[in-house]
Amino acid sequence: MTTLTNRQYYLAARPEGAPTRADVPCRDAPLAKPGEGEVQLRNLYISLDPAIRGWMGDDPNYIEPIAIGAAIRSTVIGRVVKSNSPDYKVGDVAMTMGGWEEYTTVPATALTRLDEHMGVPLSSFLGVLGPTGLTAYFGLLDVAQPKAGETVLVSAAAGAVGSIVGQIAKMQGCRVVGMAGSDEKCSWLTGELGFDDAINYRNCGDYKLAIRAACPEGVDVYFDNVGGEILDAGLACLNKFARVAVCGWISTYNIADAPGPRARNLWQLVANSVTIRGFVVIDYAERFGEGVAQLAEWVLAGKLLAREDIVDGLDNVLPTFLKLFDGSNNGKLVLRIPEEQ
Ligand code: NDP
Repeated sequence: MTTLTNRQYYLAARPEGAPTRADVPCRDAPLAKPGEGEVQLRNLYISLDPAIRGWMGDDPNYIEPIAIGAAIRSTVIGRVVKSNSPDYKVGDVAMTMGGWEEYTTVPATALTRLDEHMGVPLSSFLGVLGPTGLTAYFGLLDVAQPKAGETVLVSAAAGAVGSIVGQIAKMQGCRVVGMAGSDEKCSWLTGELGFDDAINYRNCGDYKLAIRAACPEGVDVYFDNVGGEILDAGLACLNKFARVAVCGWISTYNIADAPGPRARNLWQLVANSVTIRGFVVIDYAERFGEGVAQLAEWVLAGKLLAREDIVDGLDNVLPTFLKLFDGSNNGKLVLRIPEEQ
């Protein structure tokens, strides 16, 4: 029987704090009919990224907020089930900006074709070979520009972006220290991933003292995924001419009217002639091909390891998304909608 509905989670209200079921309810929307040049995907993987929390609000951001009543926006990977484009046939697999929904219908020009037979799981195109891997690659190499022998500090280091940042920094010949929220995550960083040291920020006591102990020669590059108090502590430990890549502020995303970091240590930017730069990965869109090619080479050569946390079932999407904010995700968080469902 033909499916005529599209199960989707949509934005009913802008959340104050962590999004709830009332903010993000479910509905069975009419399934769109692809128009001229459009393609319909049956989604297989939905990328769950901290940035989505920002798009649920209406603060100025790098892309427009999700409109009230619209499906929650996410990068998706799906299989073509209908095509009105000569460029895609039923059965092809592609990635696009879609939603927390079973089916996504977009112009063929908005799709990126994926190769199912490349020897990597399709989900890696949402992680190490996709937006989070590219964020690590360009944020570290282009924004922070580490040099061999320097000390690189990374926060949210066991996450999708942070774990790739640390491994690339090791390949550049740097000493790498990660900050993460559990002993298990820290052991993974210093064990399998080869970080030089790791700080469990939940039990380390004073952040600044812990960073100084783990970075006795100071910090030359700080790749910050967290913001808030951890960013402020990192600023206090910088060397002369250090670079700070400001990638994300996840510690503040769910705090209504977050006060922002108390920038006690901003003066260190002056004292140590520091360069601090925020960035978003789409700044590098024209170079994505270069980034994916290099990341894929490292992954296929076994030089770059990536952990994925894959949860099944569209109806688990909201509780799964919230794992990003309590640290219970282990690696790139992805929702899978198995094909046989
Ligand atoms: P992760 O896989 O790193 O998951 C998020 C992690 O953040 C959690 O596992 C948790 O790890 C940590 N975290 C959550 N809340 C806090 C807190 N209050 N204090 C400290 N750590 C916390 O997610 P991503 O790799 O996808 O994203 C990491 C960061 O990078 C986010 O800030 C995100 O917005 C940003 N980002 C920026 C991009 C850009 O273009 N600038 C693109 C992609 C991501 P733990 O257990 O260690 O606490």
